Amino acid sequence: QREISATPKTGEEAQDRAVRPKSLADYVGQPVVREQMEIFIGAAKGRNEALDHTLVFGPPGLGKTTLANIIASEMGVDLKSTSGPVLEKAGDLAALMTNLEPGDVLFIDEIHRLSPNVEEVLYPAMEDFQLDIMIGEGPAARSIKLDLPPFTLVGATTRAGLLTSPLRDRFGIVQRLEFYNVEDLTSIVARSARLMGVPMDEEGAFEVARRSRGTPRIANRLLRRVRDYAEVKGDGNVTREMADLALNMLNVDHSGFDHMDRRLLLAMIEKFGGGPVGVESLAAAISEERDTIEDVLEPYLIQQGYLMRTPRGRMVTQLAYDHMGLPLPKHLQQ
Ligand code: ADP
Repeated sequence: QREISATPKTGEEAQDRAVRPKSLADYVGQPVVREQMEIFIGAAKGRNEALDHTLVFGPPGLGKTTLANIIASEMGVDLKSTSGPVLEKAGDLAALMTNLEPGDVLFIDEIHRLSPNVEEVLYPAMEDFQLDIMIGEGPAARSIKLDLPPFTLVGATTRAGLLTSPLRDRFGIVQRLEFYNVEDLTSIVARSARLMGVPMDEEGAFEVARRSRGTPRIANRLLRRVRDYAEVKGDGNVTREMADLALNMLNVDHSGFDHMDRRLLLAMIEKFGGGPVGVESLAAAISEERDTIEDVLEPYLIQQGYLMRTPRGRMVTQLAYDHMGLPLPKHLQQ
């Protein structure tokens, strides 16, 4: 099986694969997505067709790649995976697509980062399963057309708004992943602990879940660090106290915010009087990429009500002042 992967495999990634759910039944939370996908997958299978192209969007670590893999296994087909930035030339995509078997899933992560010439090859492939590419250069260049087997493109992106509209319009199914509530995250942590053989009680799982920014990837990562801590500093059992000590050591506070979250909130308060401030100025003030702020930091802070997006820029709320233990300035008091 051919795989072009954007990221190197580490030990952590191998562990991650071990806890990754393999079926829709194991996919915790996201009830709307799960119910819809069950129906669409069941219908496509019943008609013996490839599933419609599916776009999955949401912040990093919420389960987009996992869902793509589940779609393939529920459909009983193979998944070939790549990512937007890896596909430099139209030929790279053509090589992948000509390797597809009927019904296969082609997963493109970070699909908003496809180059325009690659994206153009994708349109007829998605619509008519036709590959239409130019080979050669200059006067010798010619275009070739190839028929592709019916396949399912699963695209993942952090924000649907980043896609060009012709690309977005070609997806028959669009799923938005939400941050997980603490209850669902607690089941995810408990399940991972079971699979990893980590002795953990319900309260320990709850403590890790509650401080994981609504994000399964973070929950699983914190679980691994809490396990380390419990093995070295305790008897290996992950209790609530043990989780609390470990998470404090990791600088994850009681709201689950890490160093970066607090730095962002503090910069907004101290350097910009609470806002409104434009994302570019904010990025410069904390030496972060604008994308990191918009894709990773901001969504959870907004969802939790610490930050607001207004037409004039970002503003912090009273919750942010309270969280940092700072008084709300006069001009923000109502
Ligand atoms: P994304 O592609 O959105 O960045 P991933 O699919 O890689 O996120 O998910 C990160 C990890 O979180 C997965 O390896 C998996 O272990 C866990 N995970 C994600 N979604 C779920 C879920 N619904 N139930 C249980 N675990 C999940």
